[in-house]
Amino acid sequence: MKVAPEIIAALCRKRAPDVLTPANWEGTPLDKVQLLWGIAGVESSFGFNCSPKHEPGYCHGGRYFDFERTKEWGCLAHCSFGPWQVMFAHFPLSVSPLSLMWETDGQVAADVCLRGAVSVLNRAIARGVRNLGEIVVAYNGPANEAGYASILEACLAKPMPQSAAEVAT
Ligand SMILES: [Zn+2]
Repeated sequence: MKVAPEIIAALCRKRAPDVLTPANWEGTPLDKVQLLWGIAGVESSFGFNCSPKHEPGYCHGGRYFDFERTKEWGCLAHCSFGPWQVMFAHFPLSVSPLSLMWETDGQVAADVCLRGAVSVLNRAIARGVRNLGEIVVAYNGPANEAGYASILEACLAKPMPQSAAEVAT
């Protein structure tokens, strides 16, 4: 499963205004477009690998196991999805895992995924994150903060392709 980087970039520009502005941010102001772009870089190599990824912590016996979602979707309920690899548990109940998977050029599914990613980020921002390290922990958990942060730094620096016109608003 792949989504073109031009589509990823256009979706970042489209959804960045939905990201809350952190109230207590330290240092260089947060560039929201770049943040969404950088996370897509870490999570899927800017759309190159968007396949669902099964996370054992959400499966049977895991600490995040959800009986109802599992009854409905089986192991699809234990996966992260899309260019931003958002855990299924972080989407509203109305979102089907099937809607998060490939169709046509992947644009619609990627946008649903990105809205899920923005809501994860906004919950963290509402709690008062002050820097990228705290965003990393909120997005990816406390394990491997330094490793994730250094890949994120590299991805934030990658230029974004143009051609926003291809993505319908
Ligand atoms: Zn499972």
